[in-house]
Amino acid sequence: MPNDAAVLVVEDDPHIAELVSMCLTGAGYRVRVTASGANALELSRQERPRLVVLDIGLPGDLDGLEVCRRLRARDELPVLFLTARDAEVDRVVGLELGADDYVTKPFSPRELLARVRAILRRSEPAPRESPTTFSLGEVEVDTGRHEARRCGTPVPLTTREFDLLVYLAENQGLVLSRRQLLDGVWGGSWVGDERTVDVHVGQLRKKLGPDLPLATVWGVGYRLG
Ligand code: CA
Repeated sequence: MPNDAAVLVVEDDPHIAELVSMCLTGAGYRVRVTASGANALELSRQERPRLVVLDIGLPGDLDGLEVCRRLRARDELPVLFLTARDAEVDRVVGLELGADDYVTKPFSPRELLARVRAILRRSEPAPRESPTTFSLGEVEVDTGRHEARRCGTPVPLTTREFDLLVYLAENQGLVLSRRQLLDGVWGGSWVGDERTVDVHVGQLRKKLGPDLPLATVWGVGYRLG
């Protein structure tokens, strides 16, 4: 998808606002920054951003949770919360405001970018219908032809291996737990052992070789790219 989507950043800490802005601008997004919740509501009306990156602790009458509530009353605009404390994470999750995701400060630009990309990809209309080619080092994944290639040569994969590879590629840069992978690739009804994920990852590594940038994150799961 084109990388020039508009992102509205609502953050009153100028250092964090600048970090977020630089990170997103560097990735090609168009970024507007405001420190005020009221201003954010106005800007989102005028500029129709594709995503709002929203700090929870904002000065004035409108904190991030209230801004989210009001945005959500208008439309389905995706929201990525910036949270400062675990207590805020609990509130985001507990209030079920429909936040699409959150990152906890301090966060790395890489993590922020990965989450922004994932949200925008999810909010694309019918993203899986449009064929995509992912380039992962020497490995290419072509969803249109249902084919994985290593250095240009097609590599035979089972359907499940291919689906797993596509799912990892769609979530490039994010650490995915075995449970998330089971839900995303095998479907929520899967009741088998989580080690089935390890077996399939092992097959992908064997077939696609060390060129595939697929990392094991000990105690958590896997990350591609
Ligand atoms: Ca703040």
